[in-house]
Amino acid sequence: MNKQTEIKKELAQLPILEYAFLKPGEIIFSKEVRDLCEGNSCGMYHKSWACPPAVGSVESCMEKCYGYDQAMLFTTATAVASSFDMKGWMQARLEHEALTDQVAAVFRRYDKDALILSTEGCTVCKKCTYPDAPCRFPDRMYPATEGYGIMVMQMAPALNIRYNNGANTVTYFSMVLFNE
Ligand code: SF4
Repeated sequence: MNKQTEIKKELAQLPILEYAFLKPGEIIFSKEVRDLCEGNSCGMYHKSWACPPAVGSVESCMEKCYGYDQAMLFTTATAVASSFDMKGWMQARLEHEALTDQVAAVFRRYDKDALILSTEGCTVCKKCTYPDAPCRFPDRMYPATEGYGIMVMQMAPALNIRYNNGANTVTYFSMVLFNE
């Protein structure tokens, strides 16, 4: 049984909504996505080891991704009271990050150097050490896909993954890069 078959068996036990395997060459990088980070659209620019500029240039992020031979993109979707339900959005994100920890553990059993990318910022510590001291938990610090300049919105349809799961839901994406 190959590695992907074993991994799929383990993923089937987790509450992932949708996932797809792809080649790192299929990842769509966009400078515009990174520009949004640099415009501080989510307020995390220069505030976390998981975000720009700490993650390096888009070119170095691309190089890192291309150093792996496989990738996997997955989603969760959670109901929220409305698009203004910030508490619901945050709770959904924390649940997504907890699932991302579980997915990371699956992949890292097969490739201890698997790279995990997730949602904006990092939710692990109450206060990030950035930029005064090294990251406290580098194994649990998952850089944001946006910070890597990855255009998840454009990638999803080609992978048969829904970017939007309907009114009053929030859909989050994470990505794993690993070597077979
Ligand atoms: S794990 Fe803690 S120190 Fe590291 S990036 Fe996340 S919040 Fe910052």
